[in-house]
Amino acid sequence: MKVLWAPWRMVHIGGPKQAGCIFCQNPTAPDPREVLVLAVGEHTSVMLNKFPYANGHLMVSPRRHTADVSELSVAEWRQLSDGLRATVEALREEFSPEGMNVGMNLGSAGGAGIADHMHWHVVPRWVGDTNFMPLLGEVRVMPEHLEAVYDRLRPRFEALHLP
Ligand SMILES: [Zn+2]
Repeated sequence: MKVLWAPWRMVHIGGPKQAGCIFCQNPTAPDPREVLVLAVGEHTSVMLNKFPYANGHLMVSPRRHTADVSELSVAEWRQLSDGLRATVEALREEFSPEGMNVGMNLGSAGGAGIADHMHWHVVPRWVGDTNFMPLLGEVRVMPEHLEAVYDRLRPRFEALHLP
């Protein structure tokens, strides 16, 4: 996978690699912005993907470390669903995408980068944003920096209640 412009990758390469599970650790980090966490509830958190497929690529995960959807309690599943809906709404209001991809990759064979902690991916999409992909192959274009995306979305999540 080639990336045309992605300064955060330089930070990632140059900085210390995070040991452990980002979905467990990041929600309790002292500086949410540093770890790109937008919202934390009792059972759910929302964060930016550091290696986004598109601008505003967010991830919604349960707080509990589990790979198995069926292991979640009713309360956990409910808040995960509430967080997913709030994430879709925040992206729609802030970025006005023409569509979105919402999906979950379960297990390594399902394409999960972090297979042992389940998470929803929410990716805003625009008509034509993939038109160049068949031409250039696996190339992504990231015109907006991650922190800028975070700062745009953060106010929308400050009002978010994840009971
Ligand atoms: Zn975890």
